[in-house]
Amino acid sequence: MFDLSTRDIKYLSGVGPQKAALLNKELEVYSLHDLLYYFPYKYVDRSRIYYVHEIDGNMPYIQLKGEILGFETLGEGRQRRLIAHFSDGTGVVDLVWFQGIKYILNKYKIGTKYIVFGKPTAFNGRINIAHPDIDNASELSLSSMGLQPYYNTTEKMKRSFLNSHAIQKMMSTVLQQMQGPLPETLSDELIAEHHLMSLTEAMWNIHFPSNPEMLRKAQYRFKFEELFYIQLNILRYSRDRQKKYRGFVFKSVGKIFNTFYSQNLPFALTNAQKRVLKEIRYDTGCGKQMNRLLQGDVGSGKTLVALMSMLIALDNGYQACMMAPTEILANQHFETIKEFLFGMDIRVELLTGSIKGKKREAIHKGLLTGDIHILIGTHAVIEDTVNFSSLGLVVVDEQHRFGVAQRARLWMKNVNPPHVLVMTATPIPRTLAMTVYGDLDVSVIDELPPGRKPIETRHQFDNRRESLFQFIHKQIEAGRQIYIVYPLIKESEKIDLKNLEEGYELISSEFPDYKICKVHGKMKAAEKDEQMQLFVSGEAKIMVATTVIEVGVNVPNASVMVIENAERFGLSQLHQLRGRVGRGADQSYCILVTSYKLTEETRKRLEIMVRTNDGFEIAEADLKLRGPGDLEGTKQSGIAFDLKIANIAKDGQLLQYVRDIAQKIVDNDPDATSPTNQVLWKQLKALRKTNVNWASIS
Ligand code: ADP
Ligand code: MG
Repeated sequence: MFDLSTRDIKYLSGVGPQKAALLNKELEVYSLHDLLYYFPYKYVDRSRIYYVHEIDGNMPYIQLKGEILGFETLGEGRQRRLIAHFSDGTGVVDLVWFQGIKYILNKYKIGTKYIVFGKPTAFNGRINIAHPDIDNASELSLSSMGLQPYYNTTEKMKRSFLNSHAIQKMMSTVLQQMQGPLPETLSDELIAEHHLMSLTEAMWNIHFPSNPEMLRKAQYRFKFEELFYIQLNILRYSRDRQKKYRGFVFKSVGKIFNTFYSQNLPFALTNAQKRVLKEIRYDTGCGKQMNRLLQGDVGSGKTLVALMSMLIALDNGYQACMMAPTEILANQHFETIKEFLFGMDIRVELLTGSIKGKKREAIHKGLLTGDIHILIGTHAVIEDTVNFSSLGLVVVDEQHRFGVAQRARLWMKNVNPPHVLVMTATPIPRTLAMTVYGDLDVSVIDELPPGRKPIETRHQFDNRRESLFQFIHKQIEAGRQIYIVYPLIKESEKIDLKNLEEGYELISSEFPDYKICKVHGKMKAAEKDEQMQLFVSGEAKIMVATTVIEVGVNVPNASVMVIENAERFGLSQLHQLRGRVGRGADQSYCILVTSYKLTEETRKRLEIMVRTNDGFEIAEADLKLRGPGDLEGTKQSGIAFDLKIANIAKDGQLLQYVRDIAQKIVDNDPDATSPTNQVLWKQLKALRKTNVNWASIS
């Protein structure tokens, strides 16, 4: 059979080495197989032609047939544009280009019949179509066009005439050349049972749909397949891992846990905390190796749950460790946990990048002899030089800062991998959690400790600073502390720092009587800690910072979070920042400061923030607004979010459906030997080879 994945794209007629290089670089298309799996991003019904006199500025994409009456260039510099007056006899529209003017003037002729395709807008009383698609009317046969596919291309590709049209042509060549059907990638059983299109038919219809119904079926088949293999991969690995590794059995809850519970615990656990502890207790006691994700909003008390889980490990003769994404946070956990364990005979140590020399050696030794019971730290704790005598449980705080690869290293630290508890305050909608952390069991703390007053969130335009400053004054006089956060975007760190410095100057001159501290990512760790400490101790009343404070910092006395340029933050980031306040008994406030000019999407984001404090609701809204690719935490999560066709935000139901199917297959064919499933295991193997991240998921 003819294997498309070994056919280099450069040998396709009309491609050649130069265009092939572009396809490689811009689209990661190397083979004919890659090309076929480069699906259109939209389809447009091009069976209808409109008349100019019918159209207005509120229509979607439309098609006109007529000719260019004349060209005109207007404006200077960036305003420079080419206008072609285009008429079909019922009226005139202006076709407008801001780029490629020379090229357009060369290519299109006055008086030739063209089909023009684009989105009309009304401007100064005229209808404009900016950067339209133009085809020679004589070369386009409309009756056969129906749904036309549109492929994403880049500017670089367009300059080399690799536009959507060109890709469409290449697709058609490949499909025509194909002899016989494509080798099927799903089992006959699955295809029959779930009424799926065959691969070959689906491939034709995804590129050249014969009608909308066939297109829908083709899309369904590919979405099904895409999500199915993601789930099959995750479930297969998790099954194999379970077979390979036995978990440590934490037989009983013992003296350490009970002493803590009855003597040290300063408050009653919330019901949610109790429930999650029970889930962890079951996992760690049943002989399986635990891999559990603990989701809980900021301030919901995850640290305590982590600590109590670690105590169970200690009770059974094991050590435990806890990893935090930053040094500040590791420090804070260390302090918190030492305080919680006050008076108990438990040795807790801190290991971060800045602990060196003798101190570090002593820690290494203490871990090997078992003298150290609990280790708290940053990435430093998973370095190869760090070895434990009997590590039974690892807690990872703020999961999304750790890649899958780092998680995998943890499993290799012992002959038997320790139990793993991953905690995140970035709630992930269920559908997404199933994909990103599909191998983890999920626990949720959906209840805040009692007595917390919901944070009051307001949106304020930046031209009303006076009232904001007055408010801050009042809060400080009442004994509170204030965060003021400036955005940080990697690409323009210089500008951001300037923003922060200017903000710091402004605040300093506005509040000359108070100590103000400043924290940003470019600072040395020691300097940062010093500034943080000023705020933690209450000496500094205001902290001016970039988003470095986003994760985990706990200063209960801070009751106001001012976020400058709030329009530049994503929803979950805003929510994380807001979670820094509202930790004490006082009413807390979050003030989102923006400029006056806001996009529709930003407005929605701010509205959601003002309306709700519920992290899960915010995560769902975020997913809907932005799509999963941008969702906080998904980028580093390991599963690359380059889904070709499925959409996690919209296809949640299908995801659940195929997960159940995949689960059944793994359960019924635990050793992957059933003949009907061979095609599935073979395809999974092939996919693991091409998706680097897939193989590392455990
Ligand atoms: P997060 O889930 O954001 O990590 P923390 O563990 O930092 O939350 O908890 C936030 C605060 O709530 C801490 O000061 C912690 O001691 C306190 N806390 C935790 N559990 C309870 C409880 N059941 N009752 C009262 N306060 C609690
Ligand atoms: Mg925390």
